[in-house]
Amino acid sequence: MIGKKRRVLIPQYMKKFSCIGSACEDSCCIGWRVDIDHETYKKYQKVRDEELTPLMDQYIKRNRAEGHGEGAYAKIKLLPDTSCPFLNEKTLCKIQLRYGEDYLSDVCTTYPRVVHSINGLLERSATVSCPEAARIVLLNPEPMEFDEDEESRDVRNIVKKTIKAEDLNLNNKPQKYLWEIRIFTITLLQNREYTLNERLIILGMFFQALQQMISSGKNTEISGLIASYTVIIEEGSLRESLEAIPVQYNIQMELLKEIADKRYFMGVSSHRYLECFSDFLAGIQYTAESTVEEVGQRYQSAAKDYYEPFMKEHDYILENYLVNYVFKNLFPFTSDKSLFDAYMMLVIHYSLIKMHLIGMSGFRKGLTEDLVIKLIQSFAKTVEHNQKYLDGIAEQMRQNNFNTMAYMAILIKN
Ligand code: SF4
Repeated sequence: MIGKKRRVLIPQYMKKFSCIGSACEDSCCIGWRVDIDHETYKKYQKVRDEELTPLMDQYIKRNRAEGHGEGAYAKIKLLPDTSCPFLNEKTLCKIQLRYGEDYLSDVCTTYPRVVHSINGLLERSATVSCPEAARIVLLNPEPMEFDEDEESRDVRNIVKKTIKAEDLNLNNKPQKYLWEIRIFTITLLQNREYTLNERLIILGMFFQALQQMISSGKNTEISGLIASYTVIIEEGSLRESLEAIPVQYNIQMELLKEIADKRYFMGVSSHRYLECFSDFLAGIQYTAESTVEEVGQRYQSAAKDYYEPFMKEHDYILENYLVNYVFKNLFPFTSDKSLFDAYMMLVIHYSLIKMHLIGMSGFRKGLTEDLVIKLIQSFAKTVEHNQKYLDGIAEQMRQNNFNTMAYMAILIKN
């Protein structure tokens, strides 16, 4: 029996998640590409069913573009309204209803779960682009905790990224310190002695120092850096310099709005995100005639009057978002060019969410948990799953020399 089990590291929320099916306000079968892996494609080729076979012939197409592996051997052509053609009137999957979960593709079976393999240990978490996952990940006021569990080897997974022991030890690469850096990052993000903005700025100072260390080939000093930052955080000796950082609403809003506009003009299929974006624009009364100062003033008022009072009581929502981002993306060993760039992208995600919520709070004269979930879930679906857009933003930040701690502090601090 033991041979049939494997170890898996999970945030505790994973034990609570299950798909709510037709009660879902934003089905994962609407609004984006559905890949079909090779094994599932072969099963579909053998299906002889009066209703499903013609649908499969019409809508399941081989993926002939280069660079697609076995996992994206074919794809489902979506209907003009971007929904999956296999959904019934209750937005339930006809393939699953007729043949069971075994006949779902890897993507359909595993979403919204994200799996990595670190040194043979699987890690499973959930993306908040699923509304039900967003609720259980984000709405827990207690700090997120992780458990090691056992599961059957039969559970289907798509392992997104693998890091092996030999990679960790080889040439004393920064990856060798993966656990130390992650534990330090998560502990700091959950340190409620500091405001969330302060935690993010301290994290940036740490990553700036870490990056300098790596660039000058001093990887062996990484553990020492973590130890000294742990003492500095404990002592609170950065508090004065954190308070001295000026708040710059106009530049913050202008830069973030430009980043958000880029995604908007690429075309957005999520109605829920478009509703949030329109609330945000209405909240800061963004018009072509308004000056940056006028819009900045309205943005600042919305932040002070509505966003901050709500977040004072609920900042665990954004803390949970950040901790989940770190765990789910193997932060800081994401695909970004440097560890500081990985930090920059974490800040961009956080600041964009904050900017949308500030505008929305101005329009709605306050925030609710439902509104925050709607924004974060639809934002994750629109932004987090679009790597091309994210790579473009990272490149633009580098080209404009905005990938500095000074700019990060402008984006973070309110
Ligand atoms: S988005 Fe989440 S809750 Fe909704 S149908 Fe998909 S898995 Fe289920």
